[in-house]
Amino acid sequence: MPHIPAYERDPRLTRLETEVVDAGEDQGRPFVALADTVLYPEGGGQPPDHGTVGGVAVVDVQKAEGGIRHYLAGPPPSGRVTVELDWARRFDHMQQHTAQHLLTAVADGRFGWHTTAFHLGEHLSDIELDTPGIGPGKLTELEDMVAAEIRAARPVAARRVGPEEYAGLAVRSRGLPEGHTGDIRLVEIQGVDLNTCGGTHVGSTAELEALKLLGTESVRGGTRLFYAAGVRLRRLHAAHHERNAELRGLLGTSDDELVARTASKLEQLKDAERAVRDLEEELAVASAEALSARPGPVVTAHWPRRGLPFLQRVAKETARLAPDRVVLLTSGQGEEGSFLLVAGEEAALDVPVAGRRVAELLGGRGGGSGRIFQGKASKLSRRAEAATLLGSGA
Ligand SMILES: [Zn+2]
Repeated sequence: MPHIPAYERDPRLTRLETEVVDAGEDQGRPFVALADTVLYPEGGGQPPDHGTVGGVAVVDVQKAEGGIRHYLAGPPPSGRVTVELDWARRFDHMQQHTAQHLLTAVADGRFGWHTTAFHLGEHLSDIELDTPGIGPGKLTELEDMVAAEIRAARPVAARRVGPEEYAGLAVRSRGLPEGHTGDIRLVEIQGVDLNTCGGTHVGSTAELEALKLLGTESVRGGTRLFYAAGVRLRRLHAAHHERNAELRGLLGTSDDELVARTASKLEQLKDAERAVRDLEEELAVASAEALSARPGPVVTAHWPRRGLPFLQRVAKETARLAPDRVVLLTSGQGEEGSFLLVAGEEAALDVPVAGRRVAELLGGRGGGSGRIFQGKASKLSRRAEAATLLGSGA
């Protein structure tokens, strides 16, 4: 590996002819190390690049044992290879990462808030600031100031300096790794920020296109500030716009009325659910009364669209009204569904034994204790046979 890898020499290089210098397996993951690479290894909050080596997909890139491991989705190639960069993914990372530099610099310069952490997420990115809260007015001001720096198209450039030059520079963060020796890599947003960083960056703040702040949350005495920039921001907006269009269609209203309309629909739904519960209760009691009025020691009933809780309610009420009866209740459409067997206090039936026979007959399984046995069935058409079985004193 040259002293400065290709991804650092030229962050826009997407393709490189090079050589495999090492290959192996790390916990079942095949990897190669290359003489040089355009693929950035995870570090400094920036995720690893994706791409291919010799046509094999690279799924992860990590610094390890003084080199860079390219973890592969297939068997490692050898000899001369072409390493290619997934540019869309990388450019997104360059935009989110450079946006972080700018956001951090403006938050520090204008408000004195220091960035204590950075996270480049799959959907949103965030920085953590050492301030307990940010009011909406300050959020707007911060975003407006960042937008002004984007419009100013400030050049962004990286360079390496020796320790002596470094000591004399006004560098924002002096977070060098412990025991660091030799050159230090600096990234400068002209007129705004000078910082140490090993990541990849766009060439001008204009390439950020735009940065939108997307809310905050409290974290360990500080504030996490979410944002999106660049292509990702446009995609995000497109997704929101499409979703809103769908919601407008579904709810038959305008953007302005979406929230109020949704809230009122949810209120209606709650009322409807309450009404269904009341009706189900009435139906359960009426069904129990009708069942207990029927002749014979075994009574049965079936409902296509009621669940087990309803069967339990009917069973309990029937056993109370007619304690000498055995009741078999089923629900379901076609062959699949539920069954429930209950015997009243005065009915002479070994419920667990009879329950297992009924379960077997109905092609299902179940369990119970005392006077109730319930379960799933897969042959509900046999429920009349089950009733006959129970009638014979099974
Ligand atoms: Zn950086």
